[in-house]
Amino acid sequence: MATALDLKQRLRSAFGHSAFRPHQEEVCRRTAEGADGLVVMPTGAGKSLCYQLPGLMRGGPTLVFSPLIALMEDQTAKLRELGLRAERIHSGRPRSESRQACRLYRDGEVDFLFIAPERLGVPGFIEFLERCRPALIAVDEAHCISQWGHDFRPDYRLLGRRLPRLRPAPVLALTATATPRIQDDIAAQLDLDGDQRYIYGFRRENLAVEVVQKRPGARAAVVREVLGEEGRRPAIVYAPTRKETEALAARLDEDFPTAAYHAGLQTAQRDEVQGAFLGGEIDVVVATTAFGMGIDKPDIRTVVHTALPATVEGYYQEIGRAGRDGDAARALLLYSWADRRTQEFLHKLSYPEVEVVSGLFGALGDEPREQVDLRRRLGLAEETFEAALDQLRIHGGAVVGGGYRVRRGDDAWIRSYRVQRQLRLDQIDEMTRFADHRGCRMLRLVRHFGDRADSGDRCGVCDVCSPEACLVRRFRTPLAEEVQAMQTVVSMLRRRDGLGTGRLFKEFHAVHGSYDRGAFEDLLGALGQAGVAFVEDDSFQKAGETIHYQRAGLTPSGRRRGVDLAEQVLLPDDPPDEPRAGRRRRSAAPIDISEADADPALVEELREWRGKVAREKRLPAYTVLHNRTIVAVAAAKPGDRDQLLRVPGIGPTTVKRYGSALLRIVAAAGKADPK
Ligand code: ADP
Ligand code: ZN
Repeated sequence: MATALDLKQRLRSAFGHSAFRPHQEEVCRRTAEGADGLVVMPTGAGKSLCYQLPGLMRGGPTLVFSPLIALMEDQTAKLRELGLRAERIHSGRPRSESRQACRLYRDGEVDFLFIAPERLGVPGFIEFLERCRPALIAVDEAHCISQWGHDFRPDYRLLGRRLPRLRPAPVLALTATATPRIQDDIAAQLDLDGDQRYIYGFRRENLAVEVVQKRPGARAAVVREVLGEEGRRPAIVYAPTRKETEALAARLDEDFPTAAYHAGLQTAQRDEVQGAFLGGEIDVVVATTAFGMGIDKPDIRTVVHTALPATVEGYYQEIGRAGRDGDAARALLLYSWADRRTQEFLHKLSYPEVEVVSGLFGALGDEPREQVDLRRRLGLAEETFEAALDQLRIHGGAVVGGGYRVRRGDDAWIRSYRVQRQLRLDQIDEMTRFADHRGCRMLRLVRHFGDRADSGDRCGVCDVCSPEACLVRRFRTPLAEEVQAMQTVVSMLRRRDGLGTGRLFKEFHAVHGSYDRGAFEDLLGALGQAGVAFVEDDSFQKAGETIHYQRAGLTPSGRRRGVDLAEQVLLPDDPPDEPRAGRRRRSAAPIDISEADADPALVEELREWRGKVAREKRLPAYTVLHNRTIVAVAAAKPGDRDQLLRVPGIGPTTVKRYGSALLRIVAAAGKADPK
């Protein structure tokens, strides 16, 4: 039996680490003792050690399933550097080398053997492993086994059926991304014994999450403003389409070195961008979600999403790339209601109606058929046909063979397709609810993954916990009438704790008719932020469907009436997302300026001031204020902070930092012209 001392000694002697990272010891000890388990910890937490150390303790060999050749190569190389005996078998190696790896494994000369799951389908291979059973089985990137995950790989299915033949070795499944639902699926498919789960480490103390509604047309300017500030770069900006990455990259590149990255670029180009970013020659990469796998750059200060991501899991992985060095970092998500419609549209493209896919399935036979003929016969648009065929193939309803001809597969496809199609829609829903959530962002993310050892505390740095630190969101103190409305909410909650927010709104609306649901949610969110009330998600089952809703209640300090609502509560003051009749405030409209109005003398003075600031702070001048913005200020001649804020290119941070200086210069030039 492995004692704590043995483990620790081996940690040092084999891996050169002086101490365990949080929770590694627990996993290592139990796995070394022979228990199955599921590890869900974020990237960089040190998951590999969780199977490597117990593998050695159990006297090896450890069989590791991995989805990607690059990952296998990488892990093998790292283990070899430590002087451990690692081998891998994959399609990228000559046959003779793979045969040699098998021989070494058979002769007990290998500590770790990496293979892809599809290898289990190669005739004779499973029989070979049955003869030389491993001491431990590790399934890396285990979320790939679940069709509900965002990276489902059909080959992983083989594992569920074949692993029992390699037992009695314990199985340890590992992944950085699995919601409780996907965790259940992994545990069931791999038939993990005892349901031991290690779900830890999702809280990121140094990452401030900010989510703000912005209409699509306004987002590029916000990104430019935010990243223009000193200390906000290096940064990754995630944009939804290839075209948008290129357009935005070109715009940002005017201010600081920026490049686009997406799957449409040549491999060499992609490598170049990645290399330049890692090497510090490029400050910002504007990318689709194709960017990031394996990016280990510790000093990324900001991750921006210019649109609503498709899943919370994907979003969490992407923002998790910021601040790996432990210094403060920020994740900024810009979205609007229009984004949800875009996501639903994209969903429709990738997941055609079940009837359409059924139609294709019906047209297939045991004899392989040409794709073009099938498409013509069904009269489908190319895009729809491709999507339908893709889905049919993934779910086993079609087999694509030589010459890309297609034959009929298994008719069980329809059940799993239905489930997955719906699941993707649910994920969009989940992401929208995350964005609209008015409680602590980090807490919400931690709960999403079902972190088992989390404190449950608010993070203290997100847009909800720390409104004053926001880059883009703005807040204000409530009006007297809003204080009254909040008092109504509090007294209603005092009478009925844990009320659904829908019910609460109905009762509230009967008293305060002028508040719509959004305004009411703002009040409730502000009360939550001030620690008076809480809002939490809940759900119930109705006719086989999960209905999500929110409940609200008072916190202990809310019950004690310890908070002064007029003084301590802040309400969001974001400009309305889309112009809505009656809600659009005049101050939200940008000042109408023509550059011809710019007074050349004032432009000169502003430039001079900028030069001085830049020299003092040792910054490039454009990071203080862009030329364009200087011209705009000189043309608008703002008389106060509010007017200054409406000048194109000027954001809240600039106002905060340089507002008084700018206004002074404008006023001194005698040109201040309050409109
Ligand atoms: P994950 O698979 O969770 O993304 P890795 O297993 O690749 O993370 O580990 C990330 C890094 O942390 C690696 O460089 C690894 O060597 C290092 N690491 C893991 N455990 C420890 C430890 N106990 N002490 C110090 N470094 C560690
Ligand atoms: Zn928070």
